[in-house]
Amino acid sequence: MMNKIIKLDQHLTNMIAAGEVVERPSGIVKELVENSLDAQATKIEVSINSGGIEKIKVLDNGEGMSRTDALLAFKRHSTSKIKGVEDLWSIKSLGFRGEALPSIASVSKVELQTNNKEESSFLKIAYGDLVAQEVVASNPGTSIEISGLFYKTPARLKHLKAIPYESALVVSVMEKFAFAYPEVAFKVISNEKLVFETKGNGKLQEVVFDIYGFSIAESSLEVEFQDFDYRVSGIIVLPQYARSNKNYIHLFINQRMIRSYRLSNTVIEAYSAFLPSDRYPIVVLNIEMDSKLVDVNVHPSKWEIRLAKEKQLQLLIKNALQESLSKKMQAPLIKEVVPLVQPQSFDFTSSFKVEEATLNPLSSTFKKEEVSTFSKPQESYVNVFQELDVIGQLHGKYILAQGVQGLYIIDQHAAEERTNYEYYDRQLLLEKTHFTQLLIPFRYELSSFQTSLIQELQELFKSVNLEVEALNNSLIVRSIPSWMEKVDLEDFMTRMLGYYEAEKETDISKIQKKAVATMACHSSIRFNRYLNKEEMQQVIKNLSHCKQPYHCPHGRPTFILLSDKQLIKEFYR
Ligand code: ADP
Ligand code: MG
Repeated sequence: MMNKIIKLDQHLTNMIAAGEVVERPSGIVKELVENSLDAQATKIEVSINSGGIEKIKVLDNGEGMSRTDALLAFKRHSTSKIKGVEDLWSIKSLGFRGEALPSIASVSKVELQTNNKEESSFLKIAYGDLVAQEVVASNPGTSIEISGLFYKTPARLKHLKAIPYESALVVSVMEKFAFAYPEVAFKVISNEKLVFETKGNGKLQEVVFDIYGFSIAESSLEVEFQDFDYRVSGIIVLPQYARSNKNYIHLFINQRMIRSYRLSNTVIEAYSAFLPSDRYPIVVLNIEMDSKLVDVNVHPSKWEIRLAKEKQLQLLIKNALQESLSKKMQAPLIKEVVPLVQPQSFDFTSSFKVEEATLNPLSSTFKKEEVSTFSKPQESYVNVFQELDVIGQLHGKYILAQGVQGLYIIDQHAAEERTNYEYYDRQLLLEKTHFTQLLIPFRYELSSFQTSLIQELQELFKSVNLEVEALNNSLIVRSIPSWMEKVDLEDFMTRMLGYYEAEKETDISKIQKKAVATMACHSSIRFNRYLNKEEMQQVIKNLSHCKQPYHCPHGRPTFILLSDKQLIKEFYR
């Protein structure tokens, strides 16, 4: 029998490891910056070109390496950070696997310059082969430049997404480092442009300012709490600056960025009394604990961890955040309302009249199924709305009206959402749009992450007829389509950016649909509002003009019918 098993050579094993450690540019940046931090750097500069695909450069003022170490660093399983099995159970450094540099060097060209204050050297490695080694003078610290990434591994290259997306991921990782290490000065540059910069003075709130801008920093609270096993410190932002995805919950264990479904959810739960279920808070929490209680050796990318006493930590976080929030939220927070538009605005009604033929056919999600007690109205209401007679309102939420068939219960918010949805949908399709000049231009502060997505975001706003301009980490809107006057622009922007960030949706028609639904939801009367009889009658009238009056844009019913027949049955008559 022929033997079939061979021992893979080092280059091949490095390339295999690279699949996990350095899946994409952001993973490489993460590994390199971790190395700089492990080398006690206090200043770290990261610059990328074309999302890191073309070039990544990390410059630090850390300990540097000797000539011999610089060569060894690129050998697999070579590390200065752990020495024996014992060390593995209490890891104090960010790195320990000794595989980042060899993996990176197996799939790219690497130029390393390092100076440990005693000697300095330069190395060049191309796709695993040492191609140059020189003795050259340099400043203390280390600089690593990566280029031609995945050039020889086309499958990986193909796997990468658009450049703005890859840059945004790099920026996002760098934001996390900045939050975890406020004592380190970070500088992030993308395509020769500064994305953000932190001072390294140890003040977390200033980092929040550097990354998220003034308003969010101003609405943030520093928190610090502990029990016997854990000490948690960080920043929580008040709920009025909530986001549409969970990406703004930054969690660190012993200054290591982590992903934890359970801990993120704990934070969300703590905010649940102050936020609707589709909104997520902005939070930075650094959890300090004995390194023996955490296992970081779960996955090569080191994002996942295993915690002893996790339940205890969850409880600690939840209670502390809830307490801080409720203290702060006792006085109702009313945001100042600034009139955004000129009083003499365009006439809504004139532009409302659109040829039926140009309307977008709205998809109907109406299902003809019977619900146990209440039946959804069927067929015979075309004119039913005309005959409805309002008899009252229930709990500021539902309009009660009687018709020939029985009692109609109308969800006032859902009904208005439907009306507005169809209105905005029509407006979007109008070729000629009137614009309203804003007296005070609307300014929306962008996070550095969002700034790096700006190219694509502009397409998004153009698709809803909104011309925006980007200036120094903010989006400026000077005029809006007149039909958008009733829309809360800030809320709209926040939701759209959040949606875009979370879904990476590039299909313009889908984005438009989302935009229309968002606008519709926000200009609709709230669920808990008392209406007078005329207002209620108007809600019904508006709904009667809809092409699809039965469901709100999210597919929830707008009204249900409790028929006379059912009443008779219920009362055993
Ligand atoms: P690990 O970080 O897991 O030890 P790496 O492959 O990332 O493995 O790095 C190998 C070794 O190279 C490190 O243990 C460290 O001694 C050295 N090294 C890497 N980057 C730097 C740096 N920026 N400054 C000083 N030493 C470094
Ligand atoms: Mg490392």
